Amino acid sequence: MSFDATALANPITRLLRAYDPGHDLPALRLRFGGDLAELGSNEAVLGPSPRALKAMAESLPDVFRYPDPQAGTLKHALAAKWQVDCAAIAFGNGSHELLMLLAQCFADPGTSVVFSQFGFAVFAIATAAAGATPICVTSLPGDHASAPYGHDLDALAAAVRADTRIVYLANPNNPTGTWFDDAELDRFLARVPKTCLVVVDEAYQEFVDAPGTSSAVRLLGRYPNLVVTRTFSKAYALAGLRIGYLLADEGVVGVLERLRESFNVNALAQVAALAALGDVAHLQKVCAWTRHERGWLAGELSARGYRVLPSQTNFLLVDLGGDASGLEKHLFERGVIVRPMAGYGLGHCVRISLGTRSESERLLAALS
Ligand SMILES: *Cc1c(COP(=O)(O)O)cnc(C)c1O
Repeated sequence: MSFDATALANPITRLLRAYDPGHDLPALRLRFGGDLAELGSNEAVLGPSPRALKAMAESLPDVFRYPDPQAGTLKHALAAKWQVDCAAIAFGNGSHELLMLLAQCFADPGTSVVFSQFGFAVFAIATAAAGATPICVTSLPGDHASAPYGHDLDALAAAVRADTRIVYLANPNNPTGTWFDDAELDRFLARVPKTCLVVVDEAYQEFVDAPGTSSAVRLLGRYPNLVVTRTFSKAYALAGLRIGYLLADEGVVGVLERLRESFNVNALAQVAALAALGDVAHLQKVCAWTRHERGWLAGELSARGYRVLPSQTNFLLVDLGGDASGLEKHLFERGVIVRPMAGYGLGHCVRISLGTRSESERLLAALS
C-alpha cells in the first residue's frame, strides 16, 4: 500500500494550503543580477537604525546561548513606552505568529472568527488553521470616499455572533492602505461583547498622519477584550529578524503564554529591537520620509492617469479598473516587482511598496 501523508494529517490541516510567496525573489535576484526594484513586500528601504546593527554585531559571539525566553529587557522598554505592565505584553516571531497564536488559543471548530473581505490575508489563514468558522464581511465599496475597499465597521460589529471569539481588524489595513479613526474604533468596541476579542493589527501605525487616528493602545484599560499587535518589520525596518509583539489584558497574555514557543524570538532580534526602540530620531526619519514619498508617488501616478487609493501606509494600492495581470507582467519584465492582488480578489489592482527614489523612478519610467 502506498504512503499517503495527507490522509494522516488531522482534518483541519488536510484542508489547508501551503503559503504561496508569489514570486521566487531569490531566483529573480539571480536572474536580474541584483538589479531589481523590489516593490512587493512593504519593506522600509531606508533600513534599520545603525544602533540596531551595532547591537547585533556586539551580541554575535553570544549566539551559542539560548535567548531570554521572556525577552525581559525589551519587554521593560516597551512597558515604559506604552505605560503598561510587563504582564500585558507578549512577543512573537513576527506579529504574524501572534495573529496565528490568538486563533489557536481562542478559536476552535465550535466557534467563529470575523474579518473583512479585503482584510490582511493572515486573518483568514489563522481562522482556517484553528478550524473555526470564518465570517468574511463585505468590505466598503471601491468608490467609497474615504476608505475604498476598507473595513465596514458597522457590518463587522453586526456580524459578531454569540460564538464569535475574535474579530480581526487592521488599522491601517494591508493591502488596501485604508484606515479608520479613533471615534469609529470607540463606537465599534462599545458594540462588541466581552465574549469576543477585538484584535487591532497596527503593523503600519507609525506611518499614520491622518488627524484623529491614533493607536488603539490608549483604549486597553477600557476594553479588556482589546488586543493590539505591533511589529518591528515595517517602520523599524527589521523584517528579516522576525519580531512583533502584542499588548492586551494580562489574562489574555497569560492564555497565549501557555502555547507560545519558549524561544520564539531569537537573541539578535531582541537586542536589535531594543536598540531600534531607543533610536527615536531614526524612526522619525523613516516615518517622515515615508509620508513624503507616499504623497510624491501618489501624485506622480495620479498625474499619469492612475487611480491611487488613499493610503496611510508605506505602500499604495492602484485601482486599474480592469485586469492588472498585463501591467504586472509588463513591470516584471523590466525588473519591477509589485504585489499581484488577484489572490485577494482585487485582480484589478496592484499594490506598490514605496521603494528608494530611484526605484520609484524606474517604476514610473516602466509605466510610460
Ligand atoms: C507586514 C504586516 C504585518 C507584519 O508581519 P510580521 O510578521 O510582524 O513581519 C502584520 N500585519 C499586517 C497587516 C502587515 O501588512
